Amino acid sequence: MRPYILAEQNHAILRAERWEVAVLPFGATEPHNLHMPYGTDTLQVEEIGRRCCEKAYAAGARVLLLPVVPFGVNTNHLQIPGGLALSVNPSTLLKLVTDLVDSLERQGLRKLVLLNGHGGNELKPITRELHHTSKMFLCVCDWYRMAADVYPQIFDKPGEHADEVETSLGQAYFSELVNPELADDGAATPTRFEAINRGWVSITRPWHLATKNTGLGDPRAASADKGRQLMQVLVERFSEFLIELANAEMDATFPY
Ligand SMILES: [Zn+2]
Repeated sequence: MRPYILAEQNHAILRAERWEVAVLPFGATEPHNLHMPYGTDTLQVEEIGRRCCEKAYAAGARVLLLPVVPFGVNTNHLQIPGGLALSVNPSTLLKLVTDLVDSLERQGLRKLVLLNGHGGNELKPITRELHHTSKMFLCVCDWYRMAADVYPQIFDKPGEHADEVETSLGQAYFSELVNPELADDGAATPTRFEAINRGWVSITRPWHLATKNTGLGDPRAASADKGRQLMQVLVERFSEFLIELANAEMDATFPY
């Protein structure tokens, strides 16, 4: 039983501690090219959360990992032939977060990190909406933005979805569920609009048109070793933040 994981804890241990920070991870249930499991985002974000909370807890920070939300915003993934993605609307997800924040707040918690592992989950709006009404310090971390600066040192061709990055993490941490020989090259289909292809006009991409077999980015240079290298950076950075956050006093000018 790991004391920093809520789902593994009993009430005797839980009530004996004064928890400073909770981490709520968000995944998704969706296809990842032909070679990775539907639970990829959930498995990844849980692994990252577990390792970071473990390190922070070992350093004395009272940080608690909450259960992963396995359903994400996948409204644009529902026309994939043969697919079985499970989607919730953005407004549903924000309502869920609102209710969970309320639960935690009523029980005395004041610092919550939303650790996101799926691009379709945009969690920032909830921090704005609850800004005046909640006593909770809310912050968002999209793990896939956390270490983009080191990608050139680790990866050949990082992409976006079921790519070299995600496949490497899968090979390192749930290799029994990854079948690299099934992967295609993850080539993206451009839209007819230059502005969209360049990224300064954004849309919700219909995934069945944007991809061949749901992957975006070539996964074929992936390796377990690259996954472990990335994890090391993620754990280093995020656990450091958790420790700082746990130790920070919520005085009048917090977080400044
Ligand atoms: Zn993913």
